[in-house]
Amino acid sequence: MPASVRKDWDTYFMDIAFMASTRSRCPRRHVGSVLVQGKKLLGTAYNGAPMGVPDCSEDGCMIVEEFEPAAGTESPGGIKVKQRCIRTIHAEQNLLLFTDRIDREGSVVYVTDQPCWTCANMLANSGIVEIVFHRVYPKDYDKVAALMKQRGIGFRQIDGYVPPPDTEVQDAI
Ligand SMILES: [Zn+2]
Ligand SMILES: [Zn+2]
Repeated sequence: MPASVRKDWDTYFMDIAFMASTRSRCPRRHVGSVLVQGKKLLGTAYNGAPMGVPDCSEDGCMIVEEFEPAAGTESPGGIKVKQRCIRTIHAEQNLLLFTDRIDREGSVVYVTDQPCWTCANMLANSGIVEIVFHRVYPKDYDKVAALMKQRGIGFRQIDGYVPPPDTEVQDAI
């Protein structure tokens, strides 16, 4: 394979995160994450219900409604209602549950979607030194970016990344 088409490491690990995300059975959102130390893959995870209990594809999503201040002009001065599935453990949380602290020290997390506030807070205390993501989650972007800056953890979106074919789910969020 010519050097020009050989995948760089960012692309390589993000592609693996997207492959992991295809295991998810929540129709609303497929998220995958991987733990990398140096150039070594130490773990993969995706969002899903705990082992041994019905998942979203069997029992449907477990939807809650959340109220957010409306951004922009959609509903001026008002509140926006958002639906969210809470059946699944997020990919980042599963990654923490299935990796060892010692492996996380100094490691990088690649995740298909920018972590939500709760996952970011956990990652900030997990020993990792960088988070690399593809899709932005605007709701929590500013506070997560501020947290990582305070904590000295790298936080970046890959420029110009294109996920592998058939790995992206159009969610309803
Ligand atoms: Zn779901
Ligand atoms: Zn999360």
